[in-house]
Amino acid sequence: MKIIMLGAPGAGKGTQAKMIAEKYDVPHVSTGDIFRANIKNGTQLGMEAKKYMDQGLLVPDELTVKILLDRVANEDCKNGYVLDGFPRTIPQAEVLDKALTELGDKIDYAIDVDVPDENIVKRMGGRRACLACGATYHIEHIPPKKDGICDTCGEKLVLRDDDKPETVQNRLNVYHEQTQPLIEFYAAKGVLKTVDGTQDMKDVFEAIVKILG
Ligand code: ADP
Ligand code: AMP
Repeated sequence: MKIIMLGAPGAGKGTQAKMIAEKYDVPHVSTGDIFRANIKNGTQLGMEAKKYMDQGLLVPDELTVKILLDRVANEDCKNGYVLDGFPRTIPQAEVLDKALTELGDKIDYAIDVDVPDENIVKRMGGRRACLACGATYHIEHIPPKKDGICDTCGEKLVLRDDDKPETVQNRLNVYHEQTQPLIEFYAAKGVLKTVDGTQDMKDVFEAIVKILG
């Protein structure tokens, strides 16, 4: 099963993608997580990506497409995956589509987690991330057991630089301009499914499970 998560930054794509990955036993592939791991390890790719991420801009397609295609070529992706944060532009979607078509394959579902901008700004300010294992929390909705500490690996939680309020509005603008057109792109392919992302995360997941079966 090959699934794409669509939705604004902070809509809950990562939260749902992790739950999907666990239930359906497919890898969770997040380009944002791959970039953050590269930043943490001080790689050339990380240093390049950081320049864009810190401003709330998209990392150029040339860099992003390569890391994604390399990742999904891994053995663990052969029975499917859930993509979180990719594609974010029409050219990215076209490259993925072409690569899959060449393999006689296709995306099964593009799930749009729909959340209005007003809710997004509130959510991002409360998001806390573990840069070590990729877990995310929300200080009100999904708090960690111990304040500021990751439940999974015990590392310190942080407010991501790109979740600061001045950057969030930029990311939303970028989303509307460059990423939202993907909703039409996947609707035209007949694989688009929309869920109401303003519900409690368990209810969002229930709606997704109804779609995936
Ligand atoms: P995305 O991957 O789309 O950027 P996340 O999954 O990281 O978004 O979620 C953004 C923030 O909102 C996180 O702090 C997360 O814990 C919280 N969150 C996710 N889903 C919900 C929900 N259904 N209701 C309330 N808060 C949520
Ligand atoms: P995310 O963790 O998905 O919210 O991604 C964080 C940041 O990483 C984004 O704001 C972008 O700067 C960058 N990024 C992640 N995925 C992509 C992508 N598919 N295309 C371009 N930039 C991306």
